[in-house]
Amino acid sequence: MSPPPQPASYRDRLPPLGAYVLLAALPLGASLVARAGSLELSLVEAGKAAALLGYGIVALQFVLSARLPWPERPFGLDRVFRFHKSMGIAAAALLLAHPLLLACGEQGAGLLTDLRAPWYLWAGKAALLAAVAMGPAAVFRAALRLPYDRWRLLHGFAAIVVLVGGLGHALNVSDDLDNKPIRAAVFALLIVAILAYNRYRQSPPVLGRPPNYRVQAVTRETPTVWTVALERLSRTRGEEGLPGQFRFVSLDLPGVGDEDHPFTAASDPANSAMLSFTIKASGDFTRRIDRVQPGDRACVSPPFGRFSYLLHPKEEQLVFLAAGIGITPLMSMIRHLRATGEQRDVLLIYGNRTEEDIAFRQELAEIEAGGVPRLRVAHVLSRPDDSWTGEQGHIDGEKISRLCGEVTGKGFYVCGPPSMLRDTLRALRALGVPRSRVHYEHFAL
Ligand SMILES: Cc1cc2nc3c(=O)[nH]c(=O)nc-3n(C[C@H](O)[C@H](O)[C@H](O)COP(=O)(O)OP(=O)(O)OC[C@H]3O[C@@H](n4cnc5c(N)ncnc54)[C@H](O)[C@@H]3O)c2cc1C
Repeated sequence: MSPPPQPASYRDRLPPLGAYVLLAALPLGASLVARAGSLELSLVEAGKAAALLGYGIVALQFVLSARLPWPERPFGLDRVFRFHKSMGIAAAALLLAHPLLLACGEQGAGLLTDLRAPWYLWAGKAALLAAVAMGPAAVFRAALRLPYDRWRLLHGFAAIVVLVGGLGHALNVSDDLDNKPIRAAVFALLIVAILAYNRYRQSPPVLGRPPNYRVQAVTRETPTVWTVALERLSRTRGEEGLPGQFRFVSLDLPGVGDEDHPFTAASDPANSAMLSFTIKASGDFTRRIDRVQPGDRACVSPPFGRFSYLLHPKEEQLVFLAAGIGITPLMSMIRHLRATGEQRDVLLIYGNRTEEDIAFRQELAEIEAGGVPRLRVAHVLSRPDDSWTGEQGHIDGEKISRLCGEVTGKGFYVCGPPSMLRDTLRALRALGVPRSRVHYEHFAL
């Protein structure tokens, strides 16, 4: 039997964090050590330091996005991806600071404006442009109507331009990289980035690999939500998951290619031969989900994420706060609690627009009546019809406080659209729930 899952402690988090800091600062550190005698405090030196640190961070962006298991275990992939986003902004700022500091130093504004620059300066400019453009492209992607998969392709291409253009620029622009330790540090990071990228390309679901699941059934839950049940065809290492974890799934849907998407398994992971994903039609991939047929093949990755009550065994009383499709990880946890016969107190506050938008309504009522776990469900509707006698409006501090009573000692699990997540986390803070008792999942990576 595998050991029970453990919550991540600072001891689990320190090694990957330490490795990250050391590696990101490797070129800068090598430069500081190798040129200790000749270093001076100047804008030019600050500009060079910004470029070396920026380069280290850019190289490690490939590691952060490679879906590797070792940072996933202590942090959860969703947090790793959010860190990737923040570090992308930090790297762009550092790389932008590089020419500005050099220009403010001894090189003058001509550095920025001279059109007759040699190729390696243009390589640097291209790398800088690509680095700086990535942020707005990510933020304004929806407004630009850029489909996510096309944006991901462009994002990967821009990252390669930054890495390779930056290296070509650095190798030729000054003799600093003739220094062996600095050169070795820069190339070591390049190799790390290439290995991470290669690992990402190899990680399942992989194009051309035999599918590991087959569609068993497709069921309509609400007018816009479908459940796809899959049966396992082949077993892979690390396949068993925790209730609440998500996986990358690629389905052979006409018109959308082989792209993979993150979905939380709504099923109980105790039955690892079967997986079910409950999917809301929202974009070009998910809107075609009703076209999936029994017998279709699927590629499913191992599980990711740290959003699971099993990682917080001391929390005896659980409060689940879900809105819309954010119910899926909580449904998986409720199903697991039932399957394992756990006698915990669970309050589910579940927000939807209308009655017909409520997924799993019947099953939740049956579990509530069955008494295992001791589940209480409060449906909250924002646009109910006149016959609705239940809670109305949105999930807010007043409802949480009234329905949940004393918050001390309880574990809170929140999943829903960004606005719901933001407001609910704020409300929990206002109610005095300590951060360590609040767990949440973003449905955006
Ligand atoms: C951890 C996690 C768990 C999720 N669980 C569920 C679930 O159980 N049920 C459900 O219906 N939805 C879930 N989602 C959301 C789901 O991944 C998106 O709705 C889906 O990918 C949208 O794809 P689309 O092409 O239909 O829409 P698009 O309009 O192309 O995308 C809508 C948004 O979904 C995200 N997205 C799209 N494609 C990808 C991708 N390949 N990788 C990462 N993000 C992508 C982007 O933020 C994008 O803005 C989850 C998301 C995350 C991050």
